[in-house]
Amino acid sequence: MVVTPFILQPAAGLPPAPVSPPSGSRYPEWMTPFPNSKFIFWEVDTQADFMLPGGKLYVPGAERLLPNIRRLTDAARQGRVLLVSHGCFHAQDDPEFNTFPPHCIKGTSGSAYLAEALAEKVVVVANEPDAELPSALFAYQQILLEKQTLDIFESRHAEELLNRLPHDAEFVVFGVVTEYCVRLAAKGLIERGRTVFVARDAIETLKVEDGARTVAELKALGAKFITTDDALKLLDA
Ligand SMILES: [Zn+2]
Repeated sequence: MVVTPFILQPAAGLPPAPVSPPSGSRYPEWMTPFPNSKFIFWEVDTQADFMLPGGKLYVPGAERLLPNIRRLTDAARQGRVLLVSHGCFHAQDDPEFNTFPPHCIKGTSGSAYLAEALAEKVVVVANEPDAELPSALFAYQQILLEKQTLDIFESRHAEELLNRLPHDAEFVVFGVVTEYCVRLAAKGLIERGRTVFVARDAIETLKVEDGARTVAELKALGAKFITTDDALKLLDA
C-alpha cells in the first residue's frame, strides 16, 4: 500500500513550530506531524549516573557531549525529528550489577534523564507487561523506553516500537557507553535491516581501546560515523 505522508509546511521564513495534535483527537498513525520522518534519532542512556562527574557509573568526559546532545534533542523539541530514547532504570538487585557497579536505580536522581536530553512532549514506557506504547507515536517528540539489561532489544517494547516506525527510516544513534549499550542499540538496528548513523561526537567510551574496537566493528557492519552537524543537516535534506 502506498501512503502519501501528510507534511506540515512551516510558513516561509519561520522555523517549524512544535506540533500538537488537535485536542481531543489523535493523528492517524500514518499522518506524521513531523516535517521529516525519514530519520529517527536514537538516544542511549543519557542519564545522570553515566553523564555527570560523581555519577555511580560515570563515563569520563561524558558531560562534554551535552552541548551536542542538547542540539540533537532540540531537533525533537522543534518537531523536526522523532527522538527514541532508552535508559537503565534498575531494581536494587538487577543481575547487571554482577558486572557493573550499581547505577540508575529507578526513582533515584542518578536515573534521571538529563534536561539536555529531554524534549517537552515525552512518553515514558516502562519495561513492564502492562505498559503500552502510545497509539499515536508521532504525537510525541520523544519516546523513552526503560530497560534493565544492556541490550534495548531484550526489553519488552523495543521490537514493537521499531516495527511501528516507518520501515525505511534511517537512524542516528548517540549517547553512552560506546562499547556497551550504544553498540548493542546500533547492532540491533543493523541486524533488523535498518540504516544506522552514529554521531561520533555525541558518544563516549569507558575504555578507549574497547571504544575503538566497537567503532571498527560497527563500521564493518555498515554503520556510518558522522558529526552532530551532519546529523542535523540530514533533517534538512
Ligand atoms: Zn544499566
